[in-house]
Amino acid sequence: MKIAVIGTGYVGLVTGTCLAETGNDVICVDINEAKVKKMQDGQVPIYEPGLDLLFHRNIAQDRLKFTTDLAMAIKDAQIIFMALPTPPGGDGAADLSYILGAAKDISKLITDYKVIVNKSTVPVGTADKVRAVFSENTDVEVDVVSNPEFLREGVAVEDFMKPDRVVVGTTSERAKKLMAELYGPYVRQGNPILFMDERSSELTKYAANSFLATKITFMNEIANLCELVGADVDAVRKGIGSDSRIGKRFLFPGVGYGGSCFPKDVQALVKSADENDYHFAILKSVMDVNEKQKTILVEKVLKYYANNVQGKHFALWGLAFKPETDDIREAPALYIIDALIKHGATLTVFDPEAMANVKALIGDKVNYAENAYDALENADALLIVTEWSVFRNPDFERLESTLKNKVIFDGRNLYDLEKMIDLGYYYNSIGRKQIN
Ligand code: NAD
Repeated sequence: MKIAVIGTGYVGLVTGTCLAETGNDVICVDINEAKVKKMQDGQVPIYEPGLDLLFHRNIAQDRLKFTTDLAMAIKDAQIIFMALPTPPGGDGAADLSYILGAAKDISKLITDYKVIVNKSTVPVGTADKVRAVFSENTDVEVDVVSNPEFLREGVAVEDFMKPDRVVVGTTSERAKKLMAELYGPYVRQGNPILFMDERSSELTKYAANSFLATKITFMNEIANLCELVGADVDAVRKGIGSDSRIGKRFLFPGVGYGGSCFPKDVQALVKSADENDYHFAILKSVMDVNEKQKTILVEKVLKYYANNVQGKHFALWGLAFKPETDDIREAPALYIIDALIKHGATLTVFDPEAMANVKALIGDKVNYAENAYDALENADALLIVTEWSVFRNPDFERLESTLKNKVIFDGRNLYDLEKMIDLGYYYNSIGRKQIN
């Protein structure tokens, strides 16, 4: 099939590349000229494991192209995907200007039937709004489909190639047939393509992300309580996770959820509920709790130093909002850095992939280390914020000889408590006994 993908971010680029991988002809469009130039020159603009290989293979086989020319990209496309930003507007509701703007541009260019697929996360009713834009500007027939994306950054290629499910919101039989054909190769193992109406499909995405954000937040509160009552959150986690109704995944406590999706999607769903006179109590609490959890490590640090970190220097491992990505949008590390600097501390940071993005955002507010161990030079303590695998089994001898003091604040519970006792560390993690 001939496909156009508008927007080449984490979702658009993965979607375009993975659709090319099954033999489709894909043209990706972006307004960011520098980014398009980079991709035309054969460079992947984001870090996403496994994307490189597919990207280069499909470019080489002429199935994957990049352009800033919307008209050229959509001319022959049967299906046009929109993978555009939907950031929070001033009031917390999703800002639909990218989607509606692109819809308007497309509507003025098309001359034959197209399926317009919205991959962005959007509030209920957006498909109707997009449809209205088309009817205002063209007589050409279109079907507007909601097809939310569930990929996780860090395993996005795997998630796209073998999704747990594909959700397609449409009542058009014609669009349904094309979408079933397009997604067929990705669900060969038998995972479902769930067809539903557009509104249910739009809400499914928000419900999924909000449920996951709630699950993490619940565990963060259990962890906080564990510390107060002398329980171990790891034991509690395993104790509840082995109940199949609860499940083992997404039960790891930490420094709060971040990223480009959960914070904005929870907020947008609350806003949608408000607009419909529904008080979504649980999600409002989730937002409040997460706000506090983002700086829980700072609270622990301040408590340890009797509220005075003036002149202290910290090493910080992990900047990305989660491992295996360079994405730092709403990353807890940024809040932690900001709070510690406000309290008069200095930091040297290290992340395997996200350093350039942080540098571009906050410049020389912190020092950047060449590797994890260099970050420890002259540091009074180490803070661990992102659970990159490389931090899981460090050379503790090197740690001991480089850090000024054997003090670790671990926001991701990477180390065994017994081991930290043996090694003689002060070790403060989340929801577990504090080791002195
Ligand atoms: P992103 O910010 O990484 O990428 C958006 C891209 O769109 C950018 O490259 C930008 O230059 C481009 N763009 C903006 N306006 C444009 C226009 N008019 N024409 C062409 N290109 C334009 O965003 P993302 O993380 O890929 O997210 C896109 C959508 O998918 C959002 O609604 C998000 O909530 C949703 N989503 C994201 C994820 C994720 O993990 N990132 C997962 C599922 C769903």
